[in-house]
Amino acid sequence: METLEKQASLTFYKFIIQSLPVAVVTVDSQLKITGFNPWAEGLTGYSAEEAVGRYCGEILRGGMCHSECPLRRVLNNQHRIVRIETTVRSKRGETIPVMMNTAALLDEDGKLIGGLEAFQDIRRLKALEREKANLISMFAHDMKSPLVAIQGFAGRLLTGTSDMGEEKRDKYLEIIREEAGKLEFLVDDFLELSRLQTGKLKLNFSATSLDKQLLELFEAYQPRAAQVGIEFRLENKEALPIIEADGDRLRRVFTNLLDNALKFAKKRGTVTIATEQTDQDVMIKIMDEGIGIDERELLYVFDPFHRGRDVDDREGFGLGLAAVKTIVEGHKGRVIVESELGKGSVFTVILPKGRINETF
Ligand code: ADP
Repeated sequence: METLEKQASLTFYKFIIQSLPVAVVTVDSQLKITGFNPWAEGLTGYSAEEAVGRYCGEILRGGMCHSECPLRRVLNNQHRIVRIETTVRSKRGETIPVMMNTAALLDEDGKLIGGLEAFQDIRRLKALEREKANLISMFAHDMKSPLVAIQGFAGRLLTGTSDMGEEKRDKYLEIIREEAGKLEFLVDDFLELSRLQTGKLKLNFSATSLDKQLLELFEAYQPRAAQVGIEFRLENKEALPIIEADGDRLRRVFTNLLDNALKFAKKRGTVTIATEQTDQDVMIKIMDEGIGIDERELLYVFDPFHRGRDVDDREGFGLGLAAVKTIVEGHKGRVIVESELGKGSVFTVILPKGRINETF
């Protein structure tokens, strides 16, 4: 009877481990894998069948395997639990940052029977940390030069002799005011970035000519496209109406889309900006013949910090398309993506014509 109960509770614990939304790997005292739950399979790309019986280091290829293996530390009784940030390598060869918790596995008599590793993918967290650190350092760097100017000119005013002259004093004060204005602008931008991320963006609508804006962008991007051997086209057969929009923010939308089109281009090929309209909407398409996007990733490309698997070492934080979506939706519009891996992508920004400003 007791054994039956014991077996039932063992099965129950096994189910718990199998269902845990955390990768769990157990090893014996020789570091050979004895258990590999489904979350570990998903994260590493190895099946339990492939992993069980192999050495832990062979499968996880952890960042600390060869230096301070956390499992050895718990198995050698140096520590009861080791919690560290490290990396594992997936079967596909990706290096995945993880938060790893390692503990000794003891039987009911307290005898050591192996070790256990429970770990979680912290890629998103790391991307967020990088983005935060980058934003803060950019912000601090940009603040530096107006602050130095303000300090310098305020110093001159304070130590200046009485014969400095009114004209000179006014000039210095004017410089201080200008530099303080720049600082204010910068702080506003920084706050806006955080508003963008928390969904509290405020748009400044005014009459905006998309044709003019797209032409300016087309001219600005021409040299860069030529440099990477891309044929760059602007196709707007029919003039678009003036719409009520936040021109600066829309420029950011098109800039992000064009940056991506050129960034993910293959050598040669074309990038096209094309415009269309219906009775209600204007449509701006940015089309490329670049690397394309995997069908499974299409759902996530607009998520903050999402970066594709094929982006290699191309620069970026995965915030561009999240900003595009937030800004376009702030205009009561939509952005859609169609793409085929290896063939290219089309991003279509659809904006309602709304009130057409007669004064333009
Ligand atoms: P980032 O460009 O900084 O990685 P984005 O938010 O702009 O971030 O894009 C998110 C992801 O969407 C990219 O990492 C890439 O995988 C994919 N993507 C976006 N635009 C394109 C494009 N034109 N061609 C191929 N992939 C793209």
